[in-house]
Amino acid sequence: MSTFVMGEWISRRAHIEGDRIALMSKTRRLSYKDFEARTNQVANALYAAGVRPYDRVALLSLNSVEFLEIVFGVAKLGAIAVPINFRLSSQEVAYILFDSGATTLFYSSQLEEVAVTACEAEGVHVRRTISIGQPSSGASDLVASDVMAFEDFVSKGSVDPYPSQVLIDDVAMIMYTSGTTGRPKGAMLTHSNMTWNAINLLGGLDGVSHNDITVTSAPLFHIGGLGVFCLPLIYIGATNYIQESFDPNETLRLLEEFKATCLFMVPAMWAALSRVADFDSYDLSSLRFGVSGGAPCPLPVIDFFIDHSVSFLEGFGMTETSPMVSVLSSDQIRLRAGSIGRVVMHVDAKIVGEQGELLSPGVVGELCVRGPNIFKGYWGLGLATKEAIVDGWFHTGDLGKMDEEGFITLVDRKKDMIISGGENVYPIEVEQVLFRHEAIMDVAVIGVPDDKWGETVAAIVVLADGFECTSSEIIDFARSKMARYKAPTIIYFVDALPRNATGKVLKRTLRGDFTGTSSSV
Ligand code: AMP
Repeated sequence: MSTFVMGEWISRRAHIEGDRIALMSKTRRLSYKDFEARTNQVANALYAAGVRPYDRVALLSLNSVEFLEIVFGVAKLGAIAVPINFRLSSQEVAYILFDSGATTLFYSSQLEEVAVTACEAEGVHVRRTISIGQPSSGASDLVASDVMAFEDFVSKGSVDPYPSQVLIDDVAMIMYTSGTTGRPKGAMLTHSNMTWNAINLLGGLDGVSHNDITVTSAPLFHIGGLGVFCLPLIYIGATNYIQESFDPNETLRLLEEFKATCLFMVPAMWAALSRVADFDSYDLSSLRFGVSGGAPCPLPVIDFFIDHSVSFLEGFGMTETSPMVSVLSSDQIRLRAGSIGRVVMHVDAKIVGEQGELLSPGVVGELCVRGPNIFKGYWGLGLATKEAIVDGWFHTGDLGKMDEEGFITLVDRKKDMIISGGENVYPIEVEQVLFRHEAIMDVAVIGVPDDKWGETVAAIVVLADGFECTSSEIIDFARSKMARYKAPTIIYFVDALPRNATGKVLKRTLRGDFTGTSSSV
């Protein structure tokens, strides 16, 4: 079996140095040998329950050791893991279950209500529901199948290796990322993509080895939390401490207690860490790499960590690129503030114009990337895939420029995406919901700079004739229909939206008019 398939990473590690600690959490501690046995059990239990290669296995879970046991158990079987953002509403979860055609769902017991409601939605065909933690006594009455507790499920699987036939270009995961159409799109990431991402990351950071340890507090359902340190460290036989959910004080305590050497977080999390009142009382001298990515990191935050002797790097990546594309090293981060650095080892980048022509250094165009970490395509969306990957080059949708030395600087997001606290928010999706409010005649959604979240969602609203409506009524309406981070926190009322000749709203004009720094509700 090739070492380019994820299940084999664990088997080889268990063979080479099985007693090394792979995963830890508040309640669990697994060596690579234990990890191998548990993932074999998950693969065998899934097979015994009727799951077959290429079936989709959804995962709605807080960060946990079980999350990784499931991802690798699914990978060993040759099935496809579909991690879902645990902040989504039940309707949003239902859409992903429906679109991916998932027939099995693992969920954290804390998320039971959202999980069972989503399973009940029309078009969803989940036949097996497994609760990480104890399900409530009434849970089984609510879904088509019995809800089983994860430990009971795992105990049904043998520890013998599942006789896997997985190929390196098979899809290991479908990770959902919103598209400009407003509907989330499933990016298909192969075993080979994940392996090359690990190679790229480890090849770009000096001296990363099996002695490294990270605290994984960024969400595992997102490629940043999963793909920046967590998976590459598993690949190399190092240790992950899994923090259930981010809490800045607790993260600092864990970094100190476990002498963590590397940490990935999104800028809003780094900013929260820097605001901890007794930050200086924690000993972070073991930390060799702090990596920020997912959105631009504000300079004061970078300065804070450099001033506190943390070797701080900016990383750029996307779900579709598994994710690492470029890194700005710690020795360059002050000199080249605002840049996302240079491409990692096995990635090529170019900047192209509207017709796909190569642009000269310093000229702004669309960033395109190529390499073995580029995704296979969007699940079930052949046309979107063809538009996104042209002659092997993935069109990122990010506008930027590259200098003579290959340093890339992004200037805007072509797709108008808003990044709030590390979460992507796509204006069209929010607009579509707001349009359902009877008092709203026209609406445009933009990102507004926000002290706490980096950006917050603002809606510019034109009320229908004869209707009255307050900001808080609109905000409450949006929150009842979508995840809280997507709902607007600011409403501006206007008489009309600026539009171009073909009727498209001029978002640039709106951003110019409404982007004073704000504090969201
Ligand atoms: P996602 O697929 O959720 O990882 O989102 C990818 C998008 O996040 C990219 O297309 C960029 O617009 C943005 N992004 C990621 N990393 C950075 C960064 N370091 N600086 C600026 N934008 C970033």
